[in-house]
Amino acid sequence: MSGPHAIIHDSVLTCPHCGHQHTERMPTDACLYFWNCPSCGALLRPKPGDCCVFCSYGSAPCPPRQCAGGVPAGDQCR
Ligand SMILES: [Zn+2]
Repeated sequence: MSGPHAIIHDSVLTCPHCGHQHTERMPTDACLYFWNCPSCGALLRPKPGDCCVFCSYGSAPCPPRQCAGGVPAGDQCR
């Protein structure tokens, strides 16, 4: 359960409205569909085809998608 993984757990979300950047920790077992920008209050939701706001606005896609993208991970993958 412990040990290094290639999976990135922190993603920097960039608000498309005001450009504010906020580091958010990604849950490994769930997707985050909505995110409130702490700067301008905009409610962000995934773009079409994306599963969560991290995939759309984050510096790293969500953990499940990182697995799907071929990142060698381990027990973190579904
Ligand atoms: Zn904003």
